[in-house]
Amino acid sequence: MQKDQFIFDPLPQPALQVVGSEKLFPVHRIYCVGRNYADHAIEMGHDPNREPPFFFQKNPDCLVTNGRDFPYPPASNDVHFEMEMVVALGKAGAGIAVERALEHVFGYAVGLDMTRRDLQGEAKKLGRPWEVGKAFEASAPCSAIVPASRIGHPTSGAVWLTVNGTERQRGNLDQLIWDVPETISYLSTLFTLQPGDLIFTGTPAGVGAVVCGDEMHGGVEGIGEIHVRVI
Ligand code: MN
Repeated sequence: MQKDQFIFDPLPQPALQVVGSEKLFPVHRIYCVGRNYADHAIEMGHDPNREPPFFFQKNPDCLVTNGRDFPYPPASNDVHFEMEMVVALGKAGAGIAVERALEHVFGYAVGLDMTRRDLQGEAKKLGRPWEVGKAFEASAPCSAIVPASRIGHPTSGAVWLTVNGTERQRGNLDQLIWDVPETISYLSTLFTLQPGDLIFTGTPAGVGAVVCGDEMHGGVEGIGEIHVRVI
């Protein structure tokens, strides 16, 4: 890259740490699956048998990394946690077959799809896009990535979250409506996937609000854990 090519310095490349490596994982896009656990779809007032999961996005610079704090965002009085398994892609593709989808996975992480539920609810009611509810600053706290070469491709294991030591969410990866290969395959019919893409795979039931000072501690069995403080 030529020096002084840009009219101002580009912002830093968002990236996640990789367990067992000195090198970082550069993040390209963040895809999120909505309503991928039946019990969460039901708690949000939807019938999982009638409405399949769907996708929305956050921006790479929404990530909160390395156990940093989550600053309570403006314009909301109802900010919710959603504990999720995160898939990190290492290989590009479009129109990926389900049987070959796992070849595109570099590894796995755990993350929080933080949501301004009041703004999301208003957007839903008015038929408007979800960015104000989902893609605000620091809305995607995420752990380091564990390479699939170390842990394989987990298909079961607890997905859990405590707030101030009290359990709020507990589900299991085996309850995913779209499993990881199906999610990658379907997403790749809509978008060209790239190395560096993350997929937040959806949250089990129990979502709820946090306030300043809360300590969120969550994890996915077999992958990792995340600690985030709300400030
Ligand atoms: Mn979510």
